[in-house]
Amino acid sequence: MARNYSLSHKLFEEALKYTPGGVHSPVRAFRGVGGEPFFAQRAAGSRVFDVDGNEYIDYVCTWGPAILGHANVHILKALKEALEEGTSFGISNPRELTLAKMVVENVPSVEKVRFCNSGTEACMSAVRLARGFTGRDKIIKFDGCYHGHADSMLVKAGSGALTLGQPDSAGVPAALAALTLTLPFNDLTAVKEMVAAHPAQIAALILEPVPANAGLYLPEPGFLEGLRKLCTEEGIVLIFDEVMTGFRVAPGGAQEIYGIRPDLSCFGKVIGGGLPVGAFGGRREIMDWLAPLGPVYQAGTLSGNPLAMAAGEANLKELFSPDKKQNFARLNELTAQLAQGLVEIAKKRKIPFTGKQFGSLFCGYFCEGPVRHLQEAKKSDTARFAQFFHALKERGVYLAPSQFEAGFVSLAHTEQDIAFTLSMADEAMGKL
Ligand code: PMP
Repeated sequence: MARNYSLSHKLFEEALKYTPGGVHSPVRAFRGVGGEPFFAQRAAGSRVFDVDGNEYIDYVCTWGPAILGHANVHILKALKEALEEGTSFGISNPRELTLAKMVVENVPSVEKVRFCNSGTEACMSAVRLARGFTGRDKIIKFDGCYHGHADSMLVKAGSGALTLGQPDSAGVPAALAALTLTLPFNDLTAVKEMVAAHPAQIAALILEPVPANAGLYLPEPGFLEGLRKLCTEEGIVLIFDEVMTGFRVAPGGAQEIYGIRPDLSCFGKVIGGGLPVGAFGGRREIMDWLAPLGPVYQAGTLSGNPLAMAAGEANLKELFSPDKKQNFARLNELTAQLAQGLVEIAKKRKIPFTGKQFGSLFCGYFCEGPVRHLQEAKKSDTARFAQFFHALKERGVYLAPSQFEAGFVSLAHTEQDIAFTLSMADEAMGKL
């Protein structure tokens, strides 16, 4: 029986009058898949419930933060306790110190950290810091990587910018965009040539070590190592944007898995436990260029907010309990079951499909592989993805509403959830 979305429809019609596109972040508008978004009423564990009472197994997990699942009791308890003490102080509070220590202890390349309010702020500030530290202006980023919506980053960007066909945003001055040099991911030779063509001019090389904003693809062997070596030789600040992967794929992020020490790292999502938090950190020598110690300015009225710190701390504590391995191993196993299951179904149904997985992140492209960079990701049949998305949504499974977003599995997802998802995916692929 077709699901009823009448209340969501009514709210969306109204929202369109008050907010551009009816949404407060563009991908939520479903432009990548067509149709109308639903309005969430509540979420618990692996499920989200919309205002019409429809239930979904949720693979968006609020775009990553909900790694324990929604409305986790430990996070709610920590929030209630913190709430009683006040919502914001605008001066240092002990919770900031606790979370800062957790970041520094778990990510060896991070000797000092500063909190801000979003992944966008983290990346924007890290780039400014790299520019201040090196005295250089140009930066290198990779096509399809998304580092938030600061001006310098909206050049060949991924995520919603890519989905909407606006990888280069209007409103970014050409003179500023010209300082952001872009290259295809996984092409070390191209990076070397670009650096050689701009001697002593590149302040930073910023990347998602595992790009998860144009779907999901992985670094080829030697790529990250090659970037590390090049940056060291050329005095370029290597920035790993681990907003997606930080505390999601391992306690020390993708850099732990690949054994690379970037100079700076950016975080968000999981470290905030569902509240607005970003963080950037790295080598002490670079971090001490920040105000008030150094000349690079960065600040925030709500930075280190006690509620956000409490949620982040509770999220990490639970994730690391009973030890730092078990939960990551479980997430990896569940996600592998899902990703491999999808590949098998597509194969059985003779649908061109390339499955990707990294820890609890996954993606399925509707095309033959390999997918190693944006150009190859773009071969995917996005119309087919849209059909698949809607067929799954009708069957109670919610994927991110764009081919160019990764899926997220949480600790609240069960083997039964995965099995149900795969049986619905089988039906859905049967309709393509
Ligand atoms: N960097 C990466 C890798 C991201 O995935 C995102 C958001 N999806 C951001 C930065 C921006 O974070 P925020 O949306 O919190 O500003």
